[in-house]
Formats: sequence, C-alpha cells, structure tokens
Amino acid sequence: MLVDSHCHLNYLDEPEARLQAARARGVQGFLCIGVDAEGIEAVLALADDHADVWASVGQHPEAAAADPGWIDTYLDHPRVVALGEMGLDFYREHGAQEKSRQQARFDYQLHLAEQQRLPVVIHTRGAESETLSLLRAHPGVRGVLHCFTESWEMASAALDLGYYVSISGIVTFRNGENVREVARRLPGDRLLVETDCPWLAPVPHRGKTNEPAFVVDTAACIGELRGWSAEEVASVTGENFRRLFDRVRLPEAGGL
Ligand SMILES: [Zn+2]
Ligand SMILES: [Zn+2]
Repeated sequence: MLVDSHCHLNYLDEPEARLQAARARGVQGFLCIGVDAEGIEAVLALADDHADVWASVGQHPEAAAADPGWIDTYLDHPRVVALGEMGLDFYREHGAQEKSRQQARFDYQLHLAEQQRLPVVIHTRGAESETLSLLRAHPGVRGVLHCFTESWEMASAALDLGYYVSISGIVTFRNGENVREVARRLPGDRLLVETDCPWLAPVPHRGKTNEPAFVVDTAACIGELRGWSAEEVASVTGENFRRLFDRVRLPEAGGL
C-alpha cells in the first residue's frame, strides 16, 4: 500500500482531481497535515469526505499565531490520527525570542501527544540539538521526522528514540545527496515517504506544483537507492505507516 504520509491537500487547486490522479497511479492513502487554526477546517473536511484521507492537527513552528491551545478542540475528531506538524525551524535567522516561542509551542504539542497517546509529525530544520532535546524530554511520544533534510547523525539519534524518518522529493534533487545517504541507511522498518505537496515536486516534475501522485516518483527513487522494487517500497512504507498511525482505519472497499 503506497501512502503519501504528508501532504497539504487543502492548498491544492481541485483537490478531488489531484486525489483521483494519485489513486490512478496506485496511491492508496493520504495523510493531510494541518499547520494552523486558519486551515484546519479545510483539512478535516477533506478527511471527512474521503475514506482514504486522514488528518493531522497541529501548529507549524513558523505559523503566525502564538498560542497552540486551539488544537485541543479537535482531538476527538474521528478522522484525526496524529498531532502536527510541530517542531522547530531555525533555518532562517531567528532572534532568541522567536526561538523560545517555537520551543514553547513545540513542547506544548509534545505534551498533548503524551496525554492523548497520539503519534506526532515533526518539522525540524536547522535545529538539531534543540529538537532532539525536546524529543528526549518526552520519551513516551512516538512519531516521524518529516521531509528530513538534516544530518545522518540526527536521523540516527532520532531512530534511537524510536522515531520514523520520512523522505520527500528532495531525495531526487541533484543537490539532495545528504537525503540520499539517509534514504539508503535508514532501517527499512522506520522509513516513510511523502510529497509535502504543494511544495518540492520531485524529478521529473520540478517546477510544477507538487501533488500526491508524484509520491510514486519519490518512492521509485528510494527503491533505486535501496535495491527494492516499487512493490517492496509500497508494502514496506505502507506497513510502517499503519504501524505508526495506528488510528488509521482502512476503507471497507478496495485497497489493502
Ligand atoms: Zn514541514
Ligand atoms: Zn508540511
């Protein structure tokens, strides 16, 4: 079962048509990721309307509003299977105040995940040690480091904490060698695949708006790197997806 483990369907024009295009290429599940209070209703509506779409609710480190308390309202929604995306993004130069704001927001959501026993979707960039220390402070939490672009050392430390790592279309980019290294070295049972659409369209779609159908191209690249067939990539990453996001209930008809 090939799944796009991280997409922002609500930011795509004609999401219905984009879902159809992905299904036609064999994509059987979609985790639609919330990033802020403004967009969450659209995310949940997509998950309500489609048996193969699930939702994650969270506040992105760079979302404008400060207080993530709104998330609590959505915890009991039947289509919510995860919390996030949440995390730290220090890639751009940030002052100490913004950094501590991101850390407080991340800590709040990790705490919520601990209470609710929900897996987390983590966004981390340019903040390796700060991210790892917050993950270590919440040892009961499980989850995935999405669109991973950091060092193998960081991936390895996250694996030790029980986390999964998700590979995006960056693995197909000419300058994506560090991501290819991670995609080669990850243990098979911790690997996920995603688009993060509408951003980061993989080769051969560079320059286009990314969409869930293109997860097939990223999966093919991962297969090449690991010596796996397309079927193996789909079954291994699909199995991992279902193990991590264990509130996912598959549609009655069709699919695995
Ligand atoms: Zn992200
Ligand atoms: Zn995202």
